Amino acid sequence: MVFVVGQVGYREPCPEMCAKAMKPLSNRIVGGLLGCVAVAGCVGTEAVHGAEMKPVEPKRVLVVSVAAGFRHSAIPVGERVIAELARRSGAFTVEFIRAPESVGAQGGAGGPSQDSDGAAALRAALDKLRPESLRRYDAVIFNNTSGELPLPDKDGFLRWIADGGGFVGIHAATDTFRGRKPPDPYIQMVGAEFAWHGPQVEVEIINHDPTHPACRHLPKSFRVYEEIYLFNGFERDKVQCLLGMDRHPNTKEPGYYPVAWCKQYGRGRVFYTSLGHREDIWDPAWERGGRKNDPATAEAFQKHLLGGILWVLGLEPGGSAGSGTAGAAQ
Ligand SMILES: [Zn+2]
Repeated sequence: MVFVVGQVGYREPCPEMCAKAMKPLSNRIVGGLLGCVAVAGCVGTEAVHGAEMKPVEPKRVLVVSVAAGFRHSAIPVGERVIAELARRSGAFTVEFIRAPESVGAQGGAGGPSQDSDGAAALRAALDKLRPESLRRYDAVIFNNTSGELPLPDKDGFLRWIADGGGFVGIHAATDTFRGRKPPDPYIQMVGAEFAWHGPQVEVEIINHDPTHPACRHLPKSFRVYEEIYLFNGFERDKVQCLLGMDRHPNTKEPGYYPVAWCKQYGRGRVFYTSLGHREDIWDPAWERGGRKNDPATAEAFQKHLLGGILWVLGLEPGGSAGSGTAGAAQ
C-alpha cells in the first residue's frame, strides 16, 4: 500500500495489510485504480513481516503543456486533473513545463509563428526535455501539445523513451510534429498522426482490452460526446488497441477508427488517448458552457488516463503488442 506523506510514499510490508488498508479508500473517485497502485506496491515490496517500513520514492513525471500550434482550452484543466491523480494515487509526482503566455494562441495555426522573444522563451521552457535532464524523470506526458515544439534534442528525447522512459500522449499530442513525409520519428513513436476531425459528436466507443489498467473499469462499450480525431498512419498490428470505434464518428460509415492504444517503443512504454478535447470529459464538476458528458464519464476518463500513466511507469502490468514485442510487457 502506498501512503502519501508530502511527496514520499511508504509501502506496507504485506498483502494482507494492503487489502485491509485499501478498504476505506475504495469509495473515492479513483478508488479502483488506487487499489491497483496498492497491489503494485505490495507485489513489488522487498519488505518482510516485522521489517521496518522503507520509504518508497514516487515516480517522477514531467507534464508538457506547451502548444506551438492550436492551443486547447482544456490544457489547464488537464494539468489540474493530472496533479490530482498524482496526489490521490501517491504513485508519482508531477512537474509542469508551460509555455510563456505570449506563445500559442487559441485558434492559432500550427507552426513556429512566435516572434524571437516568444521562440526563445519557448525553447527555454522546453529545456528540461534534454536527455541529460530527462534522467531525473520516469515518464513524460504531452498534455494537448501541438505544432512544431522546439525540443532541444528531439532524437535524444526519443532515445530516452526507447531506453526505458515512459510517454503518455493526450488528444493533440498527435497534432505535434505532424504533416511530414515520411512521418516524423516522433509520430512513429506515438503510433499515428492527427489527420482531421469533424464537428463534436456523441459516439459509441468499444473497450478492446478490459484487462488493461486503462480500460478495466470501462464497460464493453460506452458513449462520450467529444471532438473525435481521425488519423493518418495508424497501423493496428503495431500497437495494442485499447479503445476504438467500428464506424466513422460523423458519417457513421462502418470501418475501424482507433481512439486509444499503447505500445512498446524499444524498452519504453507509450500510451496515447485521443480523448481530452472537452473540459467536461476531464472534470466531473465542470459547468461552464453546459455539460455534454455526465460526471461519471469524466471520472471514467480520469481512471483511463491514470491507468495509462501507471502502465507506462511500469507500476501496472498489461499486454503490449506491436513492434515485434507482442505478449505481456514486463
Ligand atoms: Zn481538440
